[in-house]
Amino acid sequence: CTAAALVVRHRMKSSGKWSRAVAILKEFEEKCRTPSSKLKQVADALAVEMHAGLASDGGSKLKMLISYVDNLPTGSCLERMVKVSREKNCDEKGMFYALDLGGTNFRVLRVHLGGKEGRVVKQEFEEVSIPPYLMTGSSDELFDYIASALAKFVATESDSLHVSPGRQRELGFTFSFPVKQTLISSGTLVKWTKGFTVEDTVGEDVVAELTKAMERVGLDMRVAALVNDTVGTLAGGRYNDPDVVAAVILGTGTNAAYVERAHAIPKWHGLLPKSEEMVINMEWGNFHSSHFPLTEYDQELDAGSLNPGEQIFEKMISGMYLGEVVRRVLCKMAEEAAIFGDTVPPKLKTPFILRTPNMSAMHHDTSLDLKVVATNLRDIFEISNTSLKLRKLIVELCDVVATRGARLSAAGIAGIIKKLGRDTVKDGEKQRSVVALDGGLYEHYTKFRTCMENTLRELLGEEVFRNIAVEHSNDGSGIGAALLAASHSQYIEVEES
Ligand code: BGC
Ligand code: MG
Repeated sequence: CTAAALVVRHRMKSSGKWSRAVAILKEFEEKCRTPSSKLKQVADALAVEMHAGLASDGGSKLKMLISYVDNLPTGSCLERMVKVSREKNCDEKGMFYALDLGGTNFRVLRVHLGGKEGRVVKQEFEEVSIPPYLMTGSSDELFDYIASALAKFVATESDSLHVSPGRQRELGFTFSFPVKQTLISSGTLVKWTKGFTVEDTVGEDVVAELTKAMERVGLDMRVAALVNDTVGTLAGGRYNDPDVVAAVILGTGTNAAYVERAHAIPKWHGLLPKSEEMVINMEWGNFHSSHFPLTEYDQELDAGSLNPGEQIFEKMISGMYLGEVVRRVLCKMAEEAAIFGDTVPPKLKTPFILRTPNMSAMHHDTSLDLKVVATNLRDIFEISNTSLKLRKLIVELCDVVATRGARLSAAGIAGIIKKLGRDTVKDGEKQRSVVALDGGLYEHYTKFRTCMENTLRELLGEEVFRNIAVEHSNDGSGIGAALLAASHSQYIEVEES
């Protein structure tokens, strides 16, 4: 064996490894493909499942939960409310609280309504992070933590805004998990998602849990409305734009809500609301279809997750999982193609260590030498000395994962538009349909957002798309919950419009 032969053999070996890495990526990319034809099947399947979920409880993996929001607050309904409260001499100036719990942070908000048209005249908020141990602990601990943060926030109320004596403060509670409601102000938790597993809350009324905790910390406050974040976003969106028909969250988790005709909900046995409408929380994160572009990495991610077999749509789309899918593919490349050397870097084996914001940063790296990719690999995985070629491969991998998620979420929106019968243009009709979007993934992952919007146009066609608008509803869910608390206040009857 001469030295020259060794060099040749080494080169062959490493080029063999490289082509193995490329093959892994190509195979993954192939399985992740989402041509229009496939996405249309996904959209159609969603519309079919929507019907099934509305027909009966348990009729579909899509729960299609009834929100008990049958009259979205508009400026004019709140204007009447503020007027009535003035006439009744209540000087609370329309102050309402909201609590938004749904991810690693929760927010407490104070919203002041007033003036002409019941506009939001002032809002204040505070964000509090949830220590990870509380996400897997006991219900009392979690709710006590939330209630005391809320109590602290209430204590910062200025005197001039103080509610009239004897008047109870009211709260809109945005709780971003699947809840089966029986009233606008109560509902039992169906299951946790997004990394929460507080076993003793499942099956309990989350409003009762929060109310008990508020009593324990000495806070006198009534939960006037319990809403999912999608429903809050829909309410906040509609308040600003009467053409909003649906709301979608693309964040840590994903979900959608939309306005359904009440008589198109066979499982609804209550009184027909005056508006003849009902907001439906789809819980689309749990959507499943045989047309999904699933790979072995998705199967392994699911099997190792806190909720195996559930939230499969969410696991291909949302911020909690995108980075983790990328990590799993990288791990395979490290094991089978030794892309990071002879041993697999230990950090690379840590589940969820690659967060989606870091994946996004790598994906958006525009520097010639892909510096951002290099720094992220170093900081997150303790991997250094990567070749430019390898860094390019990683950017491509991020692109595959983000593109699949973005295109699937567009298919979801197209499915809703179809269910609403707005996927065709009848005699040049110009009925606007606005979808309110919120969530960190949508807000911060530019390539994801752009791809989602382009795909929606691709799926609906230019003519239909012209009547569709996707609008960012910034922090709509919290404000929306406060508005819903206002329109369900115990003190003021708001006539339906
Ligand atoms: C939850 C939904 C929520 C969504 C977005 C999902 O995991 O099941 O209720 O709307 O995340 O926050
Ligand atoms: Mg949220």
